[in-house]
Amino acid sequence: MKTFEREFASWLGVKHAIACSSGSAAIHAAISAIDPEPGDEIVTTAITDMGALTPILYQGAIPVFADVDPRTCNVTADTIRPCLSERTRAIIITHLFGNPCDTGPILALAAERGLPVIEDAAQALGARWRNRRAGAIGRIGCFSLQQGKHITAGEGGVVVTDDDQLARRMFLFVNKAWGYGDKTPDHYFLALNCRMSELQGAVAVAQLPKLDDIVRRRIEMAVSLTEQIRDVPGVLPPLCAADAVHSYWRYCLRVTDGNAVGLAKALEPMGIASAPRYIRKPAFQCEVFAARRTFGKSQFPFTLARPEAVDYSPARFPGTFAALDAALVLPWNERYTAEHVCYIAQAIREAARCAQGN
Ligand SMILES: *Cc1c(COP(=O)(O)O)cnc(C)c1O
Repeated sequence: MKTFEREFASWLGVKHAIACSSGSAAIHAAISAIDPEPGDEIVTTAITDMGALTPILYQGAIPVFADVDPRTCNVTADTIRPCLSERTRAIIITHLFGNPCDTGPILALAAERGLPVIEDAAQALGARWRNRRAGAIGRIGCFSLQQGKHITAGEGGVVVTDDDQLARRMFLFVNKAWGYGDKTPDHYFLALNCRMSELQGAVAVAQLPKLDDIVRRRIEMAVSLTEQIRDVPGVLPPLCAADAVHSYWRYCLRVTDGNAVGLAKALEPMGIASAPRYIRKPAFQCEVFAARRTFGKSQFPFTLARPEAVDYSPARFPGTFAALDAALVLPWNERYTAEHVCYIAQAIREAARCAQGN
């Protein structure tokens, strides 16, 4: 596990990597390190894995959902800005599907407000923004090694930073805050056991050397699909910024005629699985948020929230709903061959014709 941490940090280009039990644990360690007061706010996105959100509630803080750019499903500086308040403690940016956020303006906004940026790079192993790898750009980066991600250890996660103090605090968080190595160790603060096991560490170490090739193959095949479907009416390929490299955890099509479900249905008999709407509904419409099911009947920490911070009126999230409506998510894999991609492209062309006929 120590070997994996060292090699992962070196691969990513950061000073510290702390292995942990999951991507959710990585996010949890990051939030614990930021150490918000109860009711403080963490700005994030409603199009993400629930494991990126519940740790915020467990730390007593309020996830505040920024809208997204419907073309990328990612938060932007413009969607984050109106969510900032005097209670904001951090901004989480999620590079969804492996497509880096438009990070420059976000870093500028965060610097202006003195806020740390936490990158959720769980889907973005191998992605890049300018000369840096996703996860090595913000103050803290979080990764998942869950079995559906680019590389896996069955389950697992990593949290990274260049900051010595944050690293120490995140190491402590995944180790019940027991002060290993200190002269008079104690359990310093509220924390869990979120360690990665040595067994997982051994698997992760063996995966790491394969990663660059996995990402290269995924990109090569995705770029080929994009070229082949460019002229298909009603569908748009992923939009990736010129200064970024998308690492294609998934290939997210945008269906412009509003019939992503129809397109998915038409693809199915051709053997192409796809997920219209990705997560189906924004996170804030899930019961944990909508019914505030947290600790007993207390509704904590929502009870401490500014009303605007927990106003989930759909009208406030036009980009989020538009993004989900248009999204048709194709599974992606480094073992896809040129032949597979050609078949997928033909199927999309055919399905788009059928779906539009309906
Ligand atoms: C997978 C994922 C997580 C959570 O990772 P787990 O290992 O499943 O806990 C968090 N954020 C995003 C964006 C993810 O895709």
